[in-house]
Amino acid sequence: MDNDFKYVSSDHVFRFSCGPHISCFNECCRDLNQFLTPYDILRLKTSLKISSEEFLGSYTRQHTGPESGLPIVHLRPNYDDALTCPFVAEEGCLVYPDRPSSCRAYPVARAVFRNRESGILTEYFMLLKESHCQGFQSGDPISVKQWIESQGLEIYNEMNDLMMEIISLKNQFIPGPLDLKTRMAFHMACYDLDAFREKIFNRGVLEPLQYDERLLLEAKADDAALLKISLQWIQKNLR
Ligand code: SF4
Ligand code: SF4
Repeated sequence: MDNDFKYVSSDHVFRFSCGPHISCFNECCRDLNQFLTPYDILRLKTSLKISSEEFLGSYTRQHTGPESGLPIVHLRPNYDDALTCPFVAEEGCLVYPDRPSSCRAYPVARAVFRNRESGILTEYFMLLKESHCQGFQSGDPISVKQWIESQGLEIYNEMNDLMMEIISLKNQFIPGPLDLKTRMAFHMACYDLDAFREKIFNRGVLEPLQYDERLLLEAKADDAALLKISLQWIQKNLR
């Protein structure tokens, strides 16, 4: 079977099962070419109990998007012929509860489009069938919507949609490459969350921008709330 993908609705029902009982177990954790979203990084560095700076230095490579001019972060594969993920082991994914959104979503992929005039967000879904993946041979019937819930993807989608807004704003207001200062600010706020925390709470440079006080308080103890603030900060700086 060749690789195949098709657009489906959120009610589309498919069968899928993955785990050590499947002959291709771990096959998809090699040949790694996986970019990471800010929320992926937050979850992974929390799972590994290291700082965002340490995570970025130890597990990622980065480049500037040729069209967007934005920094893009990839998970860095092991230096072996198979380019395996640094988190794959014989028993499976070592960071499974905090695995990145693309790993969680597979075999479903999601794209979103926001209408600039109405502000309405439209979701599109695709079902990917790759020739090496045996997961479609078994499993109980499940709809795309149920799959998204079962994989804990709602919070990832919410955060990734905020990031998509930023990319769209950036392309609208600052087309082309960013100057070094803006690029560094973008990198810190999106990816190096611990540095951002240090900047706003210990050096008090967040204002004069207005933030929801409750969210600000929450952000002192909660990285997800902090990421919402950092993404808002970037949005305001891009306008
Ligand atoms: S993070 Fe986990 S699921 Fe994703 S590629 Fe790596 S080992 Fe596989
Ligand atoms: S190739 Fe498919 S079935 Fe096999 S481990 Fe990956 S997702 Fe699971």
